[in-house]
Amino acid sequence: ASGSSASRSGQTTQVLGVRLTHADRVLYPEQGLTKLDLARYYEAIQDWVMPHLARRPLALMRCPEGRDGECFFQKHPRVAIPDSVPRIDIDEKKGTSEYIYVESAADLIALVQAGALEIHPWGSRVGDLERPDNLVFDLDPAPGVAWPEIVRVARSLRERLASLGLESFVRVTGGKGLHLVVPIEPALEWDDAKAFARALARQEAKADPKRLTTNLSKAQREGRIFIDYLRNGRGATAVASYTVRAREGAPVCVPVRWDELDAKLKPDRYTVRNLPRRLASLRKDPWAGFDDARRAIDARMRQAVGLG
Ligand code: ATP
Ligand code: MN
Ligand code: MN
Repeated sequence: ASGSSASRSGQTTQVLGVRLTHADRVLYPEQGLTKLDLARYYEAIQDWVMPHLARRPLALMRCPEGRDGECFFQKHPRVAIPDSVPRIDIDEKKGTSEYIYVESAADLIALVQAGALEIHPWGSRVGDLERPDNLVFDLDPAPGVAWPEIVRVARSLRERLASLGLESFVRVTGGKGLHLVVPIEPALEWDDAKAFARALARQEAKADPKRLTTNLSKAQREGRIFIDYLRNGRGATAVASYTVRAREGAPVCVPVRWDELDAKLKPDRYTVRNLPRRLASLRKDPWAGFDDARRAIDARMRQAVGLG
């Protein structure tokens, strides 16, 4: 289709019909990765990234000068974002605020154009904002925690979720840890979903207090893995699968199969440069069955984690 590949005419470069300015700007100096390279990455993997990203309010980490320049985490980046990108008004404590979301891969390219190096969606969709359809358990290791420990904890948390009838899917963040993502029916509102996630995380931490904590305090986290259940609050975000991080090496947050998660799999193993090869070689989506696995968090599950 027209616009499906980058084309140059004079100074203008387009990807998916979106005009890129400063297309040759180097965003990741270590790799020499430019804005055009990043746009072409998303163009190439659009069918992987869009299903998990589309129609969710977004926060962005923008680094207009590249990852070595100043970066800002922005919930309301509207001024810098092309008008073509859809907006939604969301009620907040201090009034209504405008959020952006993406509908198409072209919208995603428009975010690249605006200097977004990280894309962080809500756990709910714009048609049903008050009821999350994903839970995220974000495993954050303190410095010095060995990777095999993180893998063990992820598997244990998976078991606990499975014992309740909830299937979980795992991804490496491109940073230091892992996320377990649990597809749920959008039945509970935010506060109840978060209370469930907190209670479940606390149960897990109680079963392994030497290794785990759900306490935010620095002292409690030292030497432990923090089970960050706070991703499950209204307005909280977690980085989107298949999107890049503003970290050295242009690492990507990547869904993996449970049987790929082992002591050798480093959380920043996949990058903008090498991920397309992995995706091309996959026979099957590592998260196959994600949507079929959606379950409502029911009264029995809530009781099982100690909620009334
Ligand atoms: P890692 O594996 O290195 O922990 P991560 O993406 O899980 O990578 P966290 O620091 O645990 O990083 O952050 C979890 C999520 O919290 C992020 O993905 C992001 O959506 C959100 N977040 C990060 N920084 C901010 C910030 N400055 N303000 C608000 N939310 C943030
Ligand atoms: Mn984390
Ligand atoms: Mn975290």
